[in-house]
Amino acid sequence: YPIVVPRDKHTLSRKNISPNALKVLYRLQEAGYESYLVGGCIRDHLIGIEPKDFDVVTNATPEEVHDIFANSRLIGRRFKLVHVTYGREIIEVSTFRANQADSAPTAPKSLKDKDTARSAHGIILRDNVYGTIDEDAIRRDFTFNALYYNVKDFAIHDYCGGLKDIEQRQIRIIGDPRARYQEDPVRMLRAIRFAAKLNFEIEEQTKAPIKEMAHLLDHIPPARLFEEVLKLLSSGNGVRTFTLLREFGLFKYLFPDADALLDREWKQGQFSAERFILRGLENTDERIQSGKSTAPYFLYAFMLWPSVLLRQSEFEQQGMPTTPALHHAATMVLDNQIASTSIPRRFSTPMREIWDLQLRLPKRHGKRPFILLSHPRFRAAFDFLLIREESGEALDGLGSWWESFQHAPENQQRQLIDKVT
Ligand code: ATP
Ligand code: MG
Repeated sequence: YPIVVPRDKHTLSRKNISPNALKVLYRLQEAGYESYLVGGCIRDHLIGIEPKDFDVVTNATPEEVHDIFANSRLIGRRFKLVHVTYGREIIEVSTFRANQADSAPTAPKSLKDKDTARSAHGIILRDNVYGTIDEDAIRRDFTFNALYYNVKDFAIHDYCGGLKDIEQRQIRIIGDPRARYQEDPVRMLRAIRFAAKLNFEIEEQTKAPIKEMAHLLDHIPPARLFEEVLKLLSSGNGVRTFTLLREFGLFKYLFPDADALLDREWKQGQFSAERFILRGLENTDERIQSGKSTAPYFLYAFMLWPSVLLRQSEFEQQGMPTTPALHHAATMVLDNQIASTSIPRRFSTPMREIWDLQLRLPKRHGKRPFILLSHPRFRAAFDFLLIREESGEALDGLGSWWESFQHAPENQQRQLIDKVT
């Protein structure tokens, strides 16, 4: 009973689909399996957004898919799937899954233990019970993510009313909202992410339980939340996403220290935690919109900076000199943060460097500016400095001094150094 929209009644055609995704779809069909495009790519296309990747779903098991494609890798534990790689493009192929809530009680015990598991809080830990396409549709998160495109007849199959919700520009969870958030609290974050990305409303019932269930995010592994934070805040809609996360009481479970400072409207002199974080996010959004890259360490560096400043000032009040106070503050803030979202060391090291350079950039005598210029983190630290200025700190023209210094020929660089008194 899906609604089937035939090829001449929708705008998704083969020329909108990545040739590699088509290759995967056809190869699976030729091998005798069903195969569909599913999820974000169909949703985004229908809304008029360029899909960022193409996900394929099939009734072949991950092992069977892996056997068909030499250029493939089995990945995932909680959710096993296959990556088929063509140069830089990865086509993600997953197998139809059944919702454990329905299938688990009748499944043999051995299978239940191995392939499905829930935590004490009812959160799904593994999701590897395979099923049919209609079972697969109802265990997806939102109605607009349960649209399937079939290469047999080029029709779109709508199992949960996603097309109507797209028309009405709303985000609707499939099934009972509370039960679905209980199974996987990250769905609350995904609702916010899509609301910000698509500029859709979250439908009333989908929205209603979020505030009161937000605390379930405490039970999600920090590594998964780290990945989710990057998708939330560095996909080009960071400001909107941040505002919604705060509104729904979800931000607290991602950045508890920053959340507390924002609640108190914390300021130190001209520095305002809120203005600074918003400016950082605006800057990230602008970079993404103009095709520039952004780094996770930069995002985390500005999200945590207000907390670092607060702790640093506390240490200084206890009589600690500025530089060690900053270093101690950095350690404390990072230690606290990784209880919520992990921060891989390859990111925490450059974060510390950016913070440390904030103390060094004002010191511009002798050879120091040249040494700083060749520091591998100079560029990031300079961008960070500009965000501080743009959000209201008066730093005596430090940003424009460094701007000139970077681009000046050597003789003028010396003059610039001499001008600093
Ligand atoms: P985008 O790739 O633009 O972020 P997407 O919808 O493709 O959006 P993915 O994270 O790539 O998001 O997931 C692919 C599909 O898998 C989704 O469209 C959805 O159907 C399903 N899905 C992903 N995460 C969940 C979840 N936590 N619960 C239920 N279904 C999910
Ligand atoms: Mg996707």
